[in-house]
Amino acid sequence: MIEVKNLVKYFPVQKGFMDALFTREKDFVKAVDDVSFKIEKGEIFGLAGESGSGKTTVGRLCVRLTPATSGEIIFEGQDITKIKGKQLRLLKRRLQITFQDPTSSLNPRMTIGNAIADALRLQNIGTRTEQRKQTEDALERVGLSPASAFYDRYPHQLSGGQRQRVIFARAFILRPAFVVTDEPVAMVDVSIRAQILNLMRDLQKELDLTYLYITHDLATARHICDRIGIMYLGKFFEIADSRAIYENALHPYTVGLMSAIPVPDPKAEKSEAIPTGEIPSPINPPPGCRFHPRCPRAFERCPKEEPELLLVEKNHWVACHLYSD
Ligand code: SF4
Repeated sequence: MIEVKNLVKYFPVQKGFMDALFTREKDFVKAVDDVSFKIEKGEIFGLAGESGSGKTTVGRLCVRLTPATSGEIIFEGQDITKIKGKQLRLLKRRLQITFQDPTSSLNPRMTIGNAIADALRLQNIGTRTEQRKQTEDALERVGLSPASAFYDRYPHQLSGGQRQRVIFARAFILRPAFVVTDEPVAMVDVSIRAQILNLMRDLQKELDLTYLYITHDLATARHICDRIGIMYLGKFFEIADSRAIYENALHPYTVGLMSAIPVPDPKAEKSEAIPTGEIPSPINPPPGCRFHPRCPRAFERCPKEEPELLLVEKNHWVACHLYSD
């Protein structure tokens, strides 16, 4: 469905007046630094890692919300990083994204019905009557039923879970093939997280969708993802089937993330594998392995040489010198 090759995104850093006067060199935030991966049709591919790892930027690049610095994104056989104009507008029907905060994703002055129908209007799809009909169908499909009771309501008149359903309706009304969902359950109550994840699964089956599921919550990713990629400072550290990530994590960073998943046992001891300290600056990532200042298993080679992402078992890729031989 989608193949990303050597994708790079650097954001220039705005300098203050004095800094700009005395230094000519430009600084860049290396948000995504040469990543490659594939997502198969019908798959749910999870992208996990701490804040600042570059996962949201990867999602935005995949749907062309942010232009890439370099690299290719092959979608349905075509490199979409270069296309423009009408072709890009048509492509956006096939690629959709939902954002983390449903409240700020909706215009508070627009009714729910208008917010969803707007996607059809922007793409010049159907007459007003057809747009209304399709919007009501979309509301019913995401469980906001009867649709007529929701169509003229405003976002503040809905609960957090209902607003998240509206976001899904707006993304799916164009019948996309590939959807990026950025932390879809982070802003809803724990009690309705399972409902939202089930809704995603139902829509996937009904509309034959492929997802990129971005999260920092590995506990929920386990229930929905077929494969998971672990990112750190703009790089992939590990990619494997969901089960292998949870039962046989190999990269020390992934092992640390797994140890940090809360367990319902107040006496459980804190694991030494949990990474300590802050994620370093993406402007000047550490040399060699980017994780070496925080890695409990770092050795002499780690600060000198950057590990490559290598296939170490069936469908299991790892970037760590412990496995590079
Ligand atoms: Fe740790 Fe070295 Fe592996 Fe990096 S390459 S994760 S520093 S052991």
